[in-house]
Amino acid sequence: QAPELPQEDFIFRSKLPDIYIPKHLPLHSYCFENISKVASKPCLINGTTGQIYTYEEVELTARRVAAGLHKLGVQQRQVIMLLLPNTPEFVLSFLGASFLGAVCTAANPFFTAPEVAKQAKASNARIIITQASYVDKVKEFAQENDVKVMCIDSAPEGCLHFSELTQADENDLPEVEINPDDVVALPYSSGTTGLPKGVMLTHKGLVTSVAQQVDGENPNLYFHSDDVILCTLPMFHIYALNSIMLCGLRAGAAILIMQKFDIGLLLDLIQKYKITIAPMVPPIVLAIAKSSETEKYDLSSIRMVKSGAAPLGKELEDAVRAKFPGAKLGQGYGMTEAGPVLAMCLGFAKEPFEIKSGACGTVVRNAEMKIVDPDTGASLPRNQAGEICIRGDQIMKGYLNDPEATARTIDKDGWLHTGDIGYIDDDDELFIVDRLKELIKYKGFQVAPAELEAMLIAHPEIIDAAVVAMKDEVAGEVPVAFVVKSEKSEITEDEIKQYISKQVVFYKRISRVFFMEAIPKAPSGKILRKELRAKLASGNY
Ligand code: AMP
Repeated sequence: QAPELPQEDFIFRSKLPDIYIPKHLPLHSYCFENISKVASKPCLINGTTGQIYTYEEVELTARRVAAGLHKLGVQQRQVIMLLLPNTPEFVLSFLGASFLGAVCTAANPFFTAPEVAKQAKASNARIIITQASYVDKVKEFAQENDVKVMCIDSAPEGCLHFSELTQADENDLPEVEINPDDVVALPYSSGTTGLPKGVMLTHKGLVTSVAQQVDGENPNLYFHSDDVILCTLPMFHIYALNSIMLCGLRAGAAILIMQKFDIGLLLDLIQKYKITIAPMVPPIVLAIAKSSETEKYDLSSIRMVKSGAAPLGKELEDAVRAKFPGAKLGQGYGMTEAGPVLAMCLGFAKEPFEIKSGACGTVVRNAEMKIVDPDTGASLPRNQAGEICIRGDQIMKGYLNDPEATARTIDKDGWLHTGDIGYIDDDDELFIVDRLKELIKYKGFQVAPAELEAMLIAHPEIIDAAVVAMKDEVAGEVPVAFVVKSEKSEITEDEIKQYISKQVVFYKRISRVFFMEAIPKAPSGKILRKELRAKLASGNY
């Protein structure tokens, strides 16, 4: 009998060759490496005011911000928190933190006060940079924890003004030695299970991820210095931070910052600034596809429409293609923990790679992807669906202060397990078909069931609860709750919904409540979410 041979892994790589990546550079040095070629070109355009910041101005101001943060006592490796909409100050603060070797954690400015406090506390933020209208959300936490609050638009009582940073002397910035493995960004994500956790993204990780997207032999992959890139996606999410802001800076492109999504304003800005690249998420694609306003504008400057963060249906893809006939439309696939980009559409590149409808691209260069059987862990060949895993220098260093969750996500061989189910076809294109993990995505925003379940169980009349996703035409998915109430309780669906609404940002609100006798669980105590999802799908609830 032939001896059993060790099973070889099926590993997938990009169709493009690997590239040189200057991983030794701190993130800001890498982004501004070619600044001499673009010094006087527009870097940031404020879509609200029309104000333009050149590359030279952005680089200098970021160094001043770093010096100002240092003067306020922020030290290397300490955390600053941003609670801001998309604004030039967001970019300047992030880059300033990088220059200082500090870490930036950004929260959704629509978060409630307890949600902000949770992230600020968990990340040990030393200063919160925000705007006057959000000060009430951070005041109490800041007072209790001796955290400074700074506003970009004014200085309400007890707060500092952002000009303290921008007017600092850049020569006061101390020399800092930044290690490529130092953390620079700390977005929060629940990953495959549990509560939101701080995702440690390093200088090396982000340099690698940006390089995978914009560097190398094929400069049209995907931005160049003549591009004007739309930034309407929220910068607190790693998709916009990395794939728009950092990639745009590295490419020397102009980044048009839109503070709030509004379809009329968006169309206006495309026409006015001749935007060439439009990164989107499915709900924005939907708004454009459905808008009759598009006919009134000249949108012909757009050469590339990218969609990511959630699945894009084929009908929607076709509908938006018709609105931008001259543009290439393709998807990318990201996950915060993966740095975040795992796969991108190669059809954007100079060489004519075909864009396949429904595909979310090919694995990025300088990385490896495999598809594993979730039950056996065996790696699978092409055209077989399993859990998508990725390995490379771009992935997170780990979760902050959570080695167990890190070990559950990155295995001992360095593979990051995404909790997404997909397959790779004969042309190396990745198709996502399902989600193994419990994460719910409302318009691309993360909703962690564990967070809502903890709130529900904290209610005195609720004995047990489980939160799962229900399909929704507009949001993609919405959270719904299965609830076991206590024996004599007469609590209603509406009361439960209100109880949650008061505590969370709008997209975490529970859309429906179903009462049941007991939550289905495995002997280990794990909620059998699949059963609950099947119940929803069958309409039997
Ligand atoms: P986040 O960490 O917030 O970026 O969420 C990551 C998750 O969003 C992934 O693990 C996927 O479940 C989902 N996702 C991202 N991009 C896509 C895509 N193009 N198609 C389907 N799901 C996606």
